[in-house]
Amino acid sequence: MEERKNIYYYYKQDEEILSHISPLLEATKRFGFTIVDDYRNANIIASIGDDGDFLQAVRKTGFRSDCLYMGISTNHSLNMYCDFMIEDTSKMIEAMLNEQLEVRRYPLIEVSVDHQGTFTCLNEFSLRSSIIKTLVVDVFVDSLHFETFRGDGLIVATPTGSTAYNKSVRGAVVDPQLSCMQVSEVSSVNNNRYRTLGASFILSGERTLTLKVVSETNDHPTMGMDNEALSIRHVDKIQIKLSNNKLKTLKLKDNSFWEKVKRTFL
Ligand code: NAP
Ligand code: MN
Repeated sequence: MEERKNIYYYYKQDEEILSHISPLLEATKRFGFTIVDDYRNANIIASIGDDGDFLQAVRKTGFRSDCLYMGISTNHSLNMYCDFMIEDTSKMIEAMLNEQLEVRRYPLIEVSVDHQGTFTCLNEFSLRSSIIKTLVVDVFVDSLHFETFRGDGLIVATPTGSTAYNKSVRGAVVDPQLSCMQVSEVSSVNNNRYRTLGASFILSGERTLTLKVVSETNDHPTMGMDNEALSIRHVDKIQIKLSNNKLKTLKLKDNSFWEKVKRTFL
């Protein structure tokens, strides 16, 4: 395997972060890595910040399948995507030098909105009413009309996104070793006229989920890809499936997904 020696650091130009960063940059160079200014020349992409920054780093660098990603936390605690603490340079260097041994792959979802493009998400795609009235959505699993949803919105989460927004609406936490996506409701209306499953459901990576916005009076919902709003406003049809790509991250010992879940929530 070709050695990965070109590293791109993604971080906010924030005084607090800048004051912590120089020991890390020095150590990276000392161990023979080149710090590149353009992410397109990198084969390791490291985000410095929190999980929200990691989501941005991955999005801004185009979900590259030929790069290894790593998350470096600046707030003295590890997060779901941040496996390293900024102070712990030796651990980072060791992991970068031994990357062939330990790589993990996170499933991604791909969302296509009408004919306006395809977008990748690492946490989730969310569709929510942007007005006080309910949003009505026909939900299809492959070609089957499964249900008509009426309520605040729907969340389609990846396994690693299952601990984020999805969890707040009582979705299940899913092992990222399973290539799947989970659909969760946000405040569905359920009565004698409107009926939804009322539980989160998990689709295999072979399925396609189609959401058709029923345009009565509410066809300008808010669409979110991870922590970014989609600028497309009017929407009819959204198709979501698992991406053929997976996000590669450095894996540390004693830091499995379930260890992260335990350390974050229990
Ligand atoms: P934010 O509003 O600052 O983040 C919400 C919280 O979610 C933060 O504590 C963030 O951690 C955490 N988080 C992000 N990804 C996670 C993951 N995969 N597992 C567990 N926790 C996670 O916005 P943000 O930091 O940019 O994060 C965006 C995410 O927030 C969205 O993708 C969505 O999942 C989530 N969100 C949740 C709700 C809700 O629970 N009601 C509503 C909207 C959005 P850090 O502090 O380390 O960044
Ligand atoms: Mn955040």
